Amino acid sequence: MNVASSETLLINFISEDELPAWRERFSRPFPDLHLARWDDCSVDPDRVSYVLVWKPEPGRLAQFPNLKVIMSEAAGVDHILSDPLVPRHVPITRMVTAETLSRMADYVTMAAYMLMRQMPDIIHAQRQSLWSDHLTGRLASETRVGILGLGQLGTGVASRLLANGFKVNGWSRRGKQIADVQSFSGSQQLASFLRQSDILVNLLPDTVETRDIISDELLNQLPAGAGIINVGRGHQLNVAALLRALASGQIKGAVLDVFAQEPLPADDPLWQHPGIIITGHVASLISNEAKAEQAMAIIRADRDGLPLPLLYNREWGY
Ligand code: NDP
Repeated sequence: MNVASSETLLINFISEDELPAWRERFSRPFPDLHLARWDDCSVDPDRVSYVLVWKPEPGRLAQFPNLKVIMSEAAGVDHILSDPLVPRHVPITRMVTAETLSRMADYVTMAAYMLMRQMPDIIHAQRQSLWSDHLTGRLASETRVGILGLGQLGTGVASRLLANGFKVNGWSRRGKQIADVQSFSGSQQLASFLRQSDILVNLLPDTVETRDIISDELLNQLPAGAGIINVGRGHQLNVAALLRALASGQIKGAVLDVFAQEPLPADDPLWQHPGIIITGHVASLISNEAKAEQAMAIIRADRDGLPLPLLYNREWGY
């Protein structure tokens, strides 16, 4: 292959050791495509047609004049749009694979069980060597889980929760028809949705409308003693409001995977809060194989002139 004249795919999250396996995967379907790491100085910026990225440094994407597609290596694209110079004319695709859906469904189901069975309180009692036979929790069949965001992930999570016996409601911009899931939409139905959410799961994309959406006002509309699972984005949760709601007992426990600042600083008080379980943005990390498969599907569609899968909609903001 003549690297100097071929189209290039740049990837910004793989190590030197991982590069040969990535090249091997792409070589059969795309023998003419050159794969390189982000910091490879030998790559001609004019030849870069595709990028697969997590948090590219601001300004870098604008340096590729012939870029055809910006592929996010995550379901969200906020880490790309935070670059004010991101080229407006280049389509951006999201990364949602079967593995993304399975892992997210695993995580949210685990977190829902943890909150339903009062696991934050049980862990706190254990740390103090306290026998906690009063912490019995409740049944899945008596627990209503409300999902903010009934998109790809919200829908997948809803079906797994239903299979595990939970009652499931969902809220989205437009109404949905999903078997056994009560659908609520728009700001006018939000209050009614919240009143019926014993556990609230956030799976909204990061947009102007969803920032800080989990506020004092929202938390106070949940049933007293509700639980929170935040797997969307950190900026959607007002942490001060959550701490107030935990202190008053309005919220009984929270499982948080995403934070406004990641990694969460070591001195952040959230770490030590007995009502909170923290994971480090791992709810739905997927394998390189799954990422490569989807990237290949996107490149194939682009080359065949077909609609790109999982295209970010600039008008909607997600
Ligand atoms: P989708 O774009 O498929 O779905 C987004 C959903 O949110 C849709 O149902 C949409 O409504 C709804 N929505 C958007 N804006 C509003 C609004 N203003 N009011 C009401 N509803 C709204 O996204 P995904 O399901 O693929 O992903 C969701 C998010 O999950 C990602 O953006 C990412 O931030 C997060 N995520 C986190 C991961 C982790 O590891 N923690 C991993 C993967 C994703 P409608 O259906 O009407 O369009």
